[in-house]
Amino acid sequence: MSDCIFCKLASGEIPTDMVCENDLAAAFRDANPQAPVHVLIVPKAHHDNILDNVDAQTLAAMTELVGEVARREGIDKTGFRVIMNTGADAGQTVMHLHMHVLGGIEMGEGLL
Ligand code: 5GP
Ligand code: ZN
Repeated sequence: MSDCIFCKLASGEIPTDMVCENDLAAAFRDANPQAPVHVLIVPKAHHDNILDNVDAQTLAAMTELVGEVARREGIDKTGFRVIMNTGADAGQTVMHLHMHVLGGIEMGEGLL
């Protein structure tokens, strides 16, 4: 999608702090981190969110990057949280499917 910021970051059209990527998905640091480790994992193809006809291959590619991000960021042993905000009540602000990977701090039970 031509005016979508995450499309541009995932494709490399706009440079970003990329952590890792594969053929179908990219992982880069959140511009406004909410934890010591805060990485976004997005598909390279545009989908508004998880309700937008996301194919299994794309989800698998995104999930593969969860483990890779955790290992690269050193939070695979301590633990982390994965969040996928969907729609208004969840506070989705960027309408391009993304997972938040949050870690590097003890988060407790909180909302989840
Ligand atoms: P949402 O609230 O939609 O689940 O999360 C969107 C996230 O994208 C926010 O945490 C916000 O900080 C991040 N974000 C918004 N614009 C940019 C950007 O241009 N670059 C990066 N790296 N992150 C962004
Ligand atoms: Zn997009």
